[in-house]
Amino acid sequence: MSDKRETVDYKGNPTQVSCLGCARENEEMERTGTVLTTEHFGAHQDFEIPIPGFIIISSRRHLQSVDEFADEEKIDFINTLTAVRAGMRKALNIDVVYLVQEEDTSHHFHVWVFPRYDWMVEQFGKKTPSLRPIMEYAREHLKTEGNLEKVEETIAKLKTHLEAR
Ligand SMILES: [Zn+2]
Repeated sequence: MSDKRETVDYKGNPTQVSCLGCARENEEMERTGTVLTTEHFGAHQDFEIPIPGFIIISSRRHLQSVDEFADEEKIDFINTLTAVRAGMRKALNIDVVYLVQEEDTSHHFHVWVFPRYDWMVEQFGKKTPSLRPIMEYAREHLKTEGNLEKVEETIAKLKTHLEAR
């Protein structure tokens, strides 16, 4: 947890963090892109990848696996996940997402709610093997002014929807 590494946010700004989840929770970094905060979880735009509607659901406590959840975290998690997914469908018209959770990460528990758009299927195909190439493509080519505006608009739209529930 103590060794900080450099990471670059979706806007292109470098930052040093050890655990992204703790850094957000402890306000060591700006809590950019937040769309929902519950008692035990937070949902926000992915820190590094400028894909509109690429949402991360992160625990507020430093843990690695679902089997560490306390009972009230279990309930809060499924409610948070379903609220975010429903919001992406209703407010952002996202028909298909992939859910991914990697336990072997230096950052604490988080789930990717990764939107699958038509352009991705056309260029990279479907299913989880397509995700890394899509993310690398986005990291390299989508930090454009127009796309970053789209990312911010998408965050605002989803946040408004989730707050109005
Ligand atoms: Zn942490």
